[in-house]
Amino acid sequence: MTMKNKPIDVECVACEVCLKEVPKSAVIASEAMDYVAYFCGLNCYEKWKNQNVKTNDQSKTSSL
Ligand SMILES: [Zn+2]
Repeated sequence: MTMKNKPIDVECVACEVCLKEVPKSAVIASEAMDYVAYFCGLNCYEKWKNQNVKTNDQSKTSSL
C-alpha cells in the first residue's frame, strides 16, 4: 500500500480588493466586467462594486 502525501490541490486566487488569497471553491466571482474578478467575501465584492460604478447618472449632459 502506498500512501502518497499529495499536497491539497486547492487553487487559490487573490481577492480583487484586499488581495487575500482565497480558495477558488469559496471565492466570489464577478463576471460583470470583461474579466472575472474574485473576492474573498461579500464585503470586498460590495466595495469593489461601489468603486466600479462609474455613476452613469452623472453623465446626464445630453446636449443633442
Ligand atoms: Zn477581500
